[in-house]
Amino acid sequence: MILYQNRKPKVILDPGHGGHDPGAIGIDGLKEKDVVLNVCELLKVKLEEVGFEVKLTRTKDVYIKLDGRTILAQGHDALLSVHCNAFGSDKAQGIETIHGYGLDGSKALATHVQKSMMKKFPENKDRGVKASPSPGYPRNLHMVRRAPCPSALAELEFITHPEWGKKLSEASYKESCVVALYEGIYEYFIEIGSQEITNPTEQYEAYKALGYYDEEKGICKLKEDLWK
Ligand SMILES: [Zn+2]
Repeated sequence: MILYQNRKPKVILDPGHGGHDPGAIGIDGLKEKDVVLNVCELLKVKLEEVGFEVKLTRTKDVYIKLDGRTILAQGHDALLSVHCNAFGSDKAQGIETIHGYGLDGSKALATHVQKSMMKKFPENKDRGVKASPSPGYPRNLHMVRRAPCPSALAELEFITHPEWGKKLSEASYKESCVVALYEGIYEYFIEIGSQEITNPTEQYEAYKALGYYDEEKGICKLKEDLWK
């Protein structure tokens, strides 16, 4: 059984989208919101088996505002948001994991998740670990920018790709995603051991102290010097 600071590590999984927001629509009308909920439900069971305490930001097909999701993450040691990628061209493909700026935990978590995904899916294109936002990745993703604990966002594959988009509807492919994400999270906790950086309260305060938050607007500021 895995322990973190002599207790069960608390992980929150965030299946992207939901309800009126289907996320990306892929091959044969497959909806991102359904794929990621399915993956997160299975991942929860797998993590609980080895001693994690796991919560989901949504357990059904409902829409929850992004702010609501990051608030739910308070008090957790790590957050993993799960998505499928999409693009107008059906040629786009590959697996990538995104992290925000802040304390070290987020990058380490994203790195372990990406490494584990690529180990499980060696034939897929490795799009790497990306910081949001950065020159190569201009999207400013709320779930990694405003999470109160170390966080990463996994893009499982392109739901719009003819081959991988089809695979994302298959139980065996999703199960492989679950195993890979599980191993990535597990390895992350092994690496950080019982380091204090993942104490959620301290982490949240540290983010604020670094000036990442505009207290008045309640949003995360963009710090261009962090792009370097
Ligand atoms: Zn998405």
